[in-house]
Amino acid sequence: MTITMTTAGLAEATERKDIPAQYKWNLGDLFPSDAAWTKAKDELTAKLPELSKHKGRLGKSAGELLATLQTMFDFDLALSRLSVYASSLSDEDVRAARPREMKQAAEELGTQYAAACSWIRPELVALDAAKVKRFLTGEPKLAPYRMYIEETLRRKPHTLSAAEEKIAAEASDMEHAGGEVHGILANADLPYPTIKLSTGESVRLDAAAFTLHRQARNRADRERVFSAFFGALKTYERTMGSTLAATVKAHLFDKRIRHFDSALEASLFQDNIPPAVYKQLLADVHRSLPTLHRYLALRKRMLGVDVLRYQDLYVPLVANVDMKFDPDQARAITLETLAPLGKEYTEAMRHGFDSGWTDYLPSTGKRSGAYSTGVYGVHPFQLLNFNGHYDDLTTLAHESGHSMHTFLSYAAQPYPTADYPIFVAEVASTFNENLLVHHMLDQTKDDDARLFLLGTLLDGLRTTLFRQTQFAEFELGFHEQAERGEPLTGENLSQLYLKIARDYYGHDQGVCQVDELLAVEWAYVPHFYYDFYVYQYATSLVASTSLARAVREEAKLVQTTGKTPRRDAYLKMLSSGSSRYAIDLLKDAGVDMTTSAPFDAAIAEMNATMDEMERILAKRKH
Ligand SMILES: [Zn+2]
Repeated sequence: MTITMTTAGLAEATERKDIPAQYKWNLGDLFPSDAAWTKAKDELTAKLPELSKHKGRLGKSAGELLATLQTMFDFDLALSRLSVYASSLSDEDVRAARPREMKQAAEELGTQYAAACSWIRPELVALDAAKVKRFLTGEPKLAPYRMYIEETLRRKPHTLSAAEEKIAAEASDMEHAGGEVHGILANADLPYPTIKLSTGESVRLDAAAFTLHRQARNRADRERVFSAFFGALKTYERTMGSTLAATVKAHLFDKRIRHFDSALEASLFQDNIPPAVYKQLLADVHRSLPTLHRYLALRKRMLGVDVLRYQDLYVPLVANVDMKFDPDQARAITLETLAPLGKEYTEAMRHGFDSGWTDYLPSTGKRSGAYSTGVYGVHPFQLLNFNGHYDDLTTLAHESGHSMHTFLSYAAQPYPTADYPIFVAEVASTFNENLLVHHMLDQTKDDDARLFLLGTLLDGLRTTLFRQTQFAEFELGFHEQAERGEPLTGENLSQLYLKIARDYYGHDQGVCQVDELLAVEWAYVPHFYYDFYVYQYATSLVASTSLARAVREEAKLVQTTGKTPRRDAYLKMLSSGSSRYAIDLLKDAGVDMTTSAPFDAAIAEMNATMDEMERILAKRKH
């Protein structure tokens, strides 16, 4: 790779005012000034009483139902405009006091808004379903609200009486105690060890430092990092066990009072995902453990170690190849990358790049990381901290995937169904990452650079497909233990974690050695407090890998066939917002997540990647 970054000093801390306008987002598209924002906020606040105008009257007529929903969604949209402006402005410089105050004011208005319309769902649920159906067929203007109405009615069997719901709502405030205690312990109070690395550098190993230094090239450093970090966690194994057990108890409480068969079912019901999808993922991964073991054998060979250990899993397979890009090059590459999605998609993306969607460069005080958000009727906004590395190019492709999903859904959907479900969100972003790495591979002849790109692709599949599913299996396992009435202690949790980890990594078959001390790894992972969240990382990547593969292959043949049904189906999903449930959206796009087919496509990609890496390695021997 010979592309080099030409803009001088990008990586250094820069003052925001010195950054050229074309690298900044344009919040002026939301409000021309802070004063205009304040005026809009005051006007919206004055409208709060309108939200309860039809209270107790939803069942009177289709007209009253319509008026209520219109008022609520109009308020919601105006509020989102205020919130996105305030939080984006605050992210430009997190030290600035005024934007932070605006953000808090928007949050406060959000709380008032939620309280003012908290009567709507319960009242809607209590209506006779046949009557609501008559309203829907008789009043065409209710069409945009159909999904909201049907979604509310779907919850009916698990909704309690008004008095019980009130108790449940108060109890749910206590639900987060376990996670909060864990958060404070893990982020602040736990006395993390300080160790000396082979470079002479001293590091305090908190979770962030651990994530960084477990990738150390020097093997002795990795060993030191693992034993120090897990040793510290081990001291708090019992405490961390209690915090997690408290969270599980809250999940079981919810499951019992709402009449679900399991905690898994109760959680997945929220997004209408069949529990079979979850179980399918676990079964598919188990069936595919030989592919993981093939990966581990390749890693062992590339690292040149005699025995592969769990401590060796995070050092990148291939040392970073020096690829650098400036933002203009990154934009150009992203557009070329997305060509298989067709002209309409890339032209919209180009327009977005040119018209204030993106805040590219890091500057003093700017929020770290990257995200994409948006305001209906305006456009998406994405924040980056672009430093010119390959990682940053990947992030641009990723966030642009979210932004285009937002843009297309906003364009095609009425506001009530414009936001897409979480279960499909990471499909659009990781789909673009997949196109990027394949585009880069198509352009790259150099074996070192190819190995690097293939290694990135492979490690992404390994950590997301296998590690996240390993987490998902553990999460299901400890919930089931609690459902069977078995005690959840730190020791029990470690035992379960070690058993699953050893299964996955082939400890007993001598594939990868998983030491006793690693049993406590679960203790620092905050996601176990999120109520069956992590499996979606795996399912999203399964879906996007499978979809991207189909669209890429179709694009290669388009000159001859002239047809693009796979692309069209995928773009239709991106335009569908939440007008349908996630599983149905994906099915129409071409992946049926209730079957193994998409998973098998992702595993095929993983194997094809390893085939090619092994070919390059074999060539080197001669
Ligand atoms: Zn994302």
